[in-house]
Amino acid sequence: MSMRTALGGSARQRITIMGGGLAGALLAALLARRGHQVDVFERRPDARVRGYEGGRSINLALAARGLAVLREAGLGDAVLAQAVAMRGRMVHPREGETNFQPYGQSDRECIWSVHRGRLNLLLLDAAERAGARLHFNQRLNYVDFTAKRAELINDHDHGARWIDFDSLIGADGAGSALRSAMQRHVDLHEHFEPLGHGYKELEIPPQVDGGFRIARDALHIWPRGGYMLIALPNTEGTFTATLFLAHQGASPSFAELPSADSARAFFEHEFPDALALMPGLATDWADNPTSGLATLRLKRWHLDGRAVLLGDAAHAMVPFHGQGMNCAFEDVAALDRLLGERADRGDAFAAFEAERRPNAEAIQAMALENYIEMRDSVDNPDWRRQRALELLLAERHPGRFVPRYSMVSFTRTPYAVAFERGRWQRELLVAATSGVEDIAAIDLVALDARIAEGLAPLPAHWRVAA
Ligand code: FAD
Repeated sequence: MSMRTALGGSARQRITIMGGGLAGALLAALLARRGHQVDVFERRPDARVRGYEGGRSINLALAARGLAVLREAGLGDAVLAQAVAMRGRMVHPREGETNFQPYGQSDRECIWSVHRGRLNLLLLDAAERAGARLHFNQRLNYVDFTAKRAELINDHDHGARWIDFDSLIGADGAGSALRSAMQRHVDLHEHFEPLGHGYKELEIPPQVDGGFRIARDALHIWPRGGYMLIALPNTEGTFTATLFLAHQGASPSFAELPSADSARAFFEHEFPDALALMPGLATDWADNPTSGLATLRLKRWHLDGRAVLLGDAAHAMVPFHGQGMNCAFEDVAALDRLLGERADRGDAFAAFEAERRPNAEAIQAMALENYIEMRDSVDNPDWRRQRALELLLAERHPGRFVPRYSMVSFTRTPYAVAFERGRWQRELLVAATSGVEDIAAIDLVALDARIAEGLAPLPAHWRVAA
């Protein structure tokens, strides 16, 4: 295990984490290993006793940067043992054949489909093994920052209790109660931007013999311009399909599909091959909620040394780059490191915000852009020509001209750097392919010179093996 286990610049400290989801559980494991006294308060019951009560997406794409943090925590192999590799996008166009678009330049460059509930349990177990104390059915309700006391409510028996704290860490997700409490003391400059589109999850069951009904090593996309259906594989042979669509005010929209019958007619028209894989569409449509999506931006993530936010509580994003959890794991690694390096909590929290906020803002912007790419561009001839040239240039300039998707998914390049380099590269691709039918006609030597001049190689320590 390479992550430090001894206390760094600070003595043994009491740390109180609100939220035992993906970020909270992993952070608890790391800080407890450092020797801190860690308590985690989680609103939900203990999933290891009652089963996972998720309410959010069933599976998630884990990328190299998230996996690297898990590996440093000694959990990489355990997570990969329950993951399915996805090597590219399988695009199901409205007309014509499905086509496979590899994500990377080799099979090693893949993303991993992991089950949210099982991953959360694995992280909670790791936290407990490391010595963190986990408290379930404990919802943060109120914080008195002057007396450093917090009120927790048990939503099952409606009991309330008060705890004392030194510092609170808010890993309590997009609807963070700690964020609301901090906002009463200091202006966090919260900006909440709903996407206007929501999502609904549906299931593609396995074949009778238990096998996958469609290629298991791909993230399947049915792009339809203003909306899309995607499907990610699960180890047990199922796929979790997700329909992303406007809530209302557009056609089609969820508002136009109030019943299972209307949904079926919509699928018959838009996604007939997917419908053939979904015998349970009517039940799933009726039973599964339609949930919203939004980007949350704050200008401040901490209240001196008393509280700090991370993960979705600080920077919820739309899910189209599959990076919310990956970004949250990078937050965890950064906060763990900085708390080890700096004795003063206020210093550590300020340094954490300075390091992570520009990166969170960059991946939030890229995630919004990726919705357009997934639902529209992947099926567009101009984009496919740009992609072909991108791959060609990536082969000619390994480690230097790295496609933005690859920088985000297969390296640890800081998101803000990937965003900037990606913008430069996209301008070059658009200019070089504009008006060109066949990329063989492009003057690659001239592009080589521009790339050598405009892009430095990515530092070796950002390039990780997937
Ligand atoms: P959460 O995982 O939301 O955990 C928050 C925890 O806090 C929960 O356990 C909750 O019960 C608890 N809690 C909430 N309020 C309180 C309270 N008041 N008191 C105590 N506890 C509380 N990310 C990826 O990297 N890849 C993907 O493919 C991907 N796909 C996604 C698909 C969808 C449809 C969505 C919605 C998100 C997706 N994400 C993906 C994003 C990812 O789910 C989040 O970024 C990630 O869960 C953030 O982790 P977190 O620990 O910050 O928050």
